[in-house]
Amino acid sequence: MLNLNSYKSLKIKKKEETEKIKQRYSITADILSYQVCKRQYGFNTIKGFSSTQKTQAWHGDLIHQVLSMLHRRYLHNVKLTNKGLTKNDPMPTDKDVEELFDKANNTLKSRGIIPITKENDKLISNLLELLKKFNKIEGKNLYPKIIDTEARLQADMGDYLLYGVIDVVVKNDDGEFEIWDYKGMLFPPQDKDWGREKLKKYEYQMLIYGELLKQQTGKYPSKCVLYFVNELNRIKSPNPKHIIDFKDENNIKKIKEAMENFSNTVKEIEKCKERGMWNVDKPADKDTCKICDLRWGCPVRKEEYPLKPL
Ligand code: SF4
Repeated sequence: MLNLNSYKSLKIKKKEETEKIKQRYSITADILSYQVCKRQYGFNTIKGFSSTQKTQAWHGDLIHQVLSMLHRRYLHNVKLTNKGLTKNDPMPTDKDVEELFDKANNTLKSRGIIPITKENDKLISNLLELLKKFNKIEGKNLYPKIIDTEARLQADMGDYLLYGVIDVVVKNDDGEFEIWDYKGMLFPPQDKDWGREKLKKYEYQMLIYGELLKQQTGKYPSKCVLYFVNELNRIKSPNPKHIIDFKDENNIKKIKEAMENFSNTVKEIEKCKERGMWNVDKPADKDTCKICDLRWGCPVRKEEYPLKPL
């Protein structure tokens, strides 16, 4: 039988301080979401509540998937040409766009990501035409210069890991890197407050991607191209490209400011996580609240969305 007295001198070793596990933060999924509304971010991203907004991702996801597949199809066609298996032009055709569009749409459907409007057929055919236009207008110049699509990059920023998915990384004729980012929308109107705000957010995202690419390659990209795909539907003067020139010193300064803002937001998020508190004292913009799953009973929107007893 065990003699309990033998445990008199039992010493419990002090627990060694363990290294803090670095959290990974992305500009879109974390920083921008938190800045839009920390309550919504806390519930959906941190506490893992299932959001019904995933159907809204259909348009953007489909554009990104088809454009990435078109580039892969181009590479595949080039291989066939180089092996002497075909003499066809390696550029994807309208038929290729249709085939890849169907494939991507079915994949999204199987994940429950579908268009939310009642006019699904019209929406689908419009989007298909848009992608055919992109393929015709940009394909020839763009596809041969692409070195990566959906590039998942990560950089150690000391206290946290910076993570981002860059739609397209291009190596231009001068051997410099460019970043391309597709936006499934029209160019945000610059005569409206919300349009200027939106463009600023996208620019912020690109400044962070510029830093992320520098962490990987040692150099900032020469420029970033924000591509507003829906502009291709405009009959008069479409304006799909917004360029941020990283050779301009002012933009390098902006990258540094954006990184400071990013790090400060990470600190705020970590504080909220520690306390488990995601309270807000002012509401997000009206459009965000209008489709927010948490609007009923939201303390800062209770006038518009009151919780009524049954
Ligand atoms: S209703 Fe608006 S303020 Fe409230 S949680 Fe949703 S987005 Fe945030």
